[in-house]
Amino acid sequence: MEYYSKEIGNLIGELQKLPGIGEKGAQRLAFHILNMPPDDVKHMAETLVSARTNVHYCKVCCTLTDSETCPICSNPKRNHRQIMVVENSRDMAAYEKTGKYEGVYHVLHGAISPMQGIGPNDIRLKELMKRLEGDVDEVIIATNSSLEGETTAMYISRLIKPTGIRVTRIASGVPVGGDIEYIDEVTLLRAFEGRTEL
Ligand code: ZN
Repeated sequence: MEYYSKEIGNLIGELQKLPGIGEKGAQRLAFHILNMPPDDVKHMAETLVSARTNVHYCKVCCTLTDSETCPICSNPKRNHRQIMVVENSRDMAAYEKTGKYEGVYHVLHGAISPMQGIGPNDIRLKELMKRLEGDVDEVIIATNSSLEGETTAMYISRLIKPTGIRVTRIASGVPVGGDIEYIDEVTLLRAFEGRTEL
C-alpha cells in the first residue's frame, strides 16, 4: 500500500473491509470514487451513514427496517399465524419476490455453526420462541440447505415440537449448499409448496 499516498491508502483500506472486495477491487473502487464529482461522493457517504443510523431490527420479526415494525409485520392482510424462519433479510426478500407467500417472517441473522463458534444464543432464536407464545399455527423453516442451515432447522424443530405448533421444512428442491437468495422464484415456490412436516 506504500505506493499510494496516505489518503488513498486509507480509502483502499476501508473499501477492502467489505465482503468480496480484495485489494485489486478496492483499488479500482477507490480510483473510481476519486474521479467522481465531489457532491456525488458526499451524497454516497451521507447515505451510508444515514442508513446505518436509521436502520435497525424490526421489533417483531427482526428484519432490518427503518420503522419500528417492518411493512410486512404491520400489514393486517398478512397471515400472522404462519411464520417463515429465514437466515437473513436477503432470503426474506427472495421469498417476497415470488409474491405468493402470505404469512410473515422471522429473521435469525445467521445460522448455528459449531465450527465457527456460532451457537443458538448468537442468532435471533429467543425472539422467535417469544413470538410462539402468541397465536401461531405453523412455523416454516426456510434456512439454507447448507450444513449450518440443516443444523439450525433441526435445532429449532426440537425446540418447537413440545409446544404442539406445526413445524415444516421447505423441500430440498434447493441445491445443497445453495444460498436461498440466488435461487429462482419457481424453485423457491416449489420448495415452499413441497414443504414437509418435521
Ligand atoms: Zn417485521
